[in-house]
Amino acid sequence: TYIVTEACIKCKYMDCVEVCPVDCFYEGENMLVIHPDECIDCGVCEPECPPEAILPDSDPEADKWLELNKQYSESW
Ligand code: SF4
Repeated sequence: TYIVTEACIKCKYMDCVEVCPVDCFYEGENMLVIHPDECIDCGVCEPECPPEAILPDSDPEADKWLELNKQYSESW
């Protein structure tokens, strides 16, 4: 899965949402998140994110944001 991280906070771009083939982006409190169970790992959103906030879960920086992505996307 791909994970939305800190650089997304207060970002106003929605490019990622538009390109995702499975619509697995959700709105969190002040950032967007990716539903980890719905993401099909296609990677299309990663280069579309202007602040480069979207990281693959293999990135060490992504790890601490996984829970938050899960939490916010499941509160819908
Ligand atoms: Fe959507 Fe693909 Fe990005 Fe996952 S990797 S959030 S499926 S665009």
